[in-house]
Amino acid sequence: MKPALFDFAVAQSLSDAQRALHVGQNKLVSGNQSLGPMLNLRLTRPAGLIDVSLLPELRIVEEYEDYVRFGAAITHAEIEDGEVPDPTGHWLRDAAANIAYRAVRNRGTIGGSLAHADPAADWVIVMTWMCATALVHGTEANATLRAIPMEEFINGPYSTALGPEDILAAVDIPKPGKGARWAYWKYTRQVGEFAKASAAILVDPSKNRTRVAIGALGRQPALLLNPESVLDGSQSPADALSEAIPDQAASKLHLHAVALSRALEQIKVAKEFSA
Ligand SMILES: Cc1cc2nc3c(=O)[nH]c(=O)nc-3n(C[C@H](O)[C@H](O)[C@H](O)COP(=O)(O)OP(=O)(O)OC[C@H]3O[C@@H](n4cnc5c(N)ncnc54)[C@H](O)[C@@H]3O)c2cc1C
Repeated sequence: MKPALFDFAVAQSLSDAQRALHVGQNKLVSGNQSLGPMLNLRLTRPAGLIDVSLLPELRIVEEYEDYVRFGAAITHAEIEDGEVPDPTGHWLRDAAANIAYRAVRNRGTIGGSLAHADPAADWVIVMTWMCATALVHGTEANATLRAIPMEEFINGPYSTALGPEDILAAVDIPKPGKGARWAYWKYTRQVGEFAKASAAILVDPSKNRTRVAIGALGRQPALLLNPESVLDGSQSPADALSEAIPDQAASKLHLHAVALSRALEQIKVAKEFSA
């Protein structure tokens, strides 16, 4: 199918984009890798698209002592290729390289992926498990950036804390401490597909952060309630999943338990991060 007719404009500034959203019936477009298919299937019929992919405010990369701020319009390929600094050593680059295939990564952006909030998307689980923060630009009358922890920003399947006139401006990604380790296992039927199940582990003793996130659940990622017990083997992956996701039958979580087991194997041999 082809999309219904729509207008198209390239935003010249954030307030330009915000004004267009205020009019209503308009949608932002960045890489168009998720919106495009939805337009083609006529699952969405905006009156106009406002292209924000080249806005300088959304293309920033700023390095601070404890974190790096990535503008929402940084592409998966720019992260994969190391064109922007990777505060985690190589973790972000590895995660980016795992997304879809190269043509999608060339256009798709970190902000578009998070705003779309596909439960199976890579950045959705990776940013949750990395303790990242979303920075949201509100309406002009209230133009200060709102900082929202990723586990609150993604609040359901294809659902975020963004209001109708909000723009996801950037993501703050904390730098891991010395000795931190990570693992990320994504189960797909074919290379280049969305995950059927995924699991990610962060062990960062010097920053007192241990996180185990489970993705591709058909909802926002789940964080295990007692990550240490699954890491030290005193709780099985299946039990940990039932505890964290009580509303889903264990039989539906079999692949997720396998993904978690694989990530647990990976973390045992993961290289320690040295800043
Ligand atoms: C064949 C195929 C395979 C794929 N496989 C994977 C995969 O394995 N893993 C994965 O993670 N992803 C996958 N994707 C999705 C891809 O990563 C997309 O790039 C990403 O989901 C959306 O980013 P985008 O920049 O293209 O956003 P767009 O499609 O431009 O926009 C998506 C949504 O976000 C909104 N939006 C965009 N920017 C902003 C902003 N700054 N503020 C507020 N709202 C905004 C838009 O209005 C729209 O609703 C795949 C896509 C395709 C086509």
